[in-house]
Amino acid sequence: MSYSKIHINPISPEPTVGSVLVIYTGGTLGMVYEAKGKQLVPFNFNQIIDRVPEISRLNFDITFLSLSEPIDSSNVNPDIWIELATIIEQEYAGYDSFVILHGTDTMAYTASALSFLLENLNKPVILTGAQLPIGVARSDARENVITALELAAAKNEEGQPIISEVCIYFNSLLLRGNRSKKRESSDFNAFHSENYPALANAGVRIEYNLPYIKPHDSDQRLTIHKNMDNRVAFLKMFPGISQLVVDSILNISGLRGIVLETYGAGNATTAQWFLDAISNAIEKNIIIFNVSQCDGGRVAQGHYETSRFLKQAGVVSGSDITAEAAITKMMYVFGKETDPHKCAEMLSQPLRGEMSV
Ligand code: ASP
Repeated sequence: MSYSKIHINPISPEPTVGSVLVIYTGGTLGMVYEAKGKQLVPFNFNQIIDRVPEISRLNFDITFLSLSEPIDSSNVNPDIWIELATIIEQEYAGYDSFVILHGTDTMAYTASALSFLLENLNKPVILTGAQLPIGVARSDARENVITALELAAAKNEEGQPIISEVCIYFNSLLLRGNRSKKRESSDFNAFHSENYPALANAGVRIEYNLPYIKPHDSDQRLTIHKNMDNRVAFLKMFPGISQLVVDSILNISGLRGIVLETYGAGNATTAQWFLDAISNAIEKNIIIFNVSQCDGGRVAQGHYETSRFLKQAGVVSGSDITAEAAITKMMYVFGKETDPHKCAEMLSQPLRGEMSV
């Protein structure tokens, strides 16, 4: 793969410290009004400085790279996640940090997927986007991009990056990527992380929540994973769900696992047909990963009668993982392991800080 790059020449009077590679994937952020001002069209990155002139005042080196075909993030898929991981692998030695500009709709999935694909990351990878296109006067794009760049370039007194993990920066909050969810389609505060505190808050000053940030380890060597297996599905419980629906999903040919979205602390119907369907699926080595429909709190299988059976049948508890992290973790684990017992074991453990034990 070869990508054309645009390098920004800083005009800051201070010497440059560090370098950031910005990877543009598409989404609302990169839209501007066409010449006649009627329609939003994808933005040409050659004009980035016209749109966000403040970027050249930052005292670090910034290079822009765009995917050959920028996408609305509703079209993202595992091939694109692997392409992003591969770009980071190829460019890892040449840059201190990475910012990914991405549509908001699936940003939490991409951030989760990348957290699994980039093992032993010791540089920042920060995703951001915008609710309003960069070409709109009230756009949040400018602030999100500039602060994401500053967070990516931030170093501690020892000269190490403060952030060494995959994060989402949006509307003043830096969140762990695999703990984030899109919660808003209109307001600017589009992302939240209910079960893990924000890693930083960008107000007048940037306040870091250091105890919650993955510690930097300069001995770590990045390992990129390039396999994801999408023979997975969601099965969301709802009152009135029929046996036909459950059986149809669990009998999909080749299916390796489902993320079971349960009620509350991991509860589901105790109707006999449902218990039989779950037991039969587990006997056929289909892995069932139990994730709560609630954003906050965690799965505690066995706490109620309505989850005791799931535990006994061998359903894997997802604890406080998000649905986005659960499904991408499953694709990653299945891409790496074939043995169902090993897969279940990996799913039950936090691999990149995506769940609490
Ligand atoms: N549909 C857009 C996308 O996710 C929305 C956005 O960028 O906010 O690509």
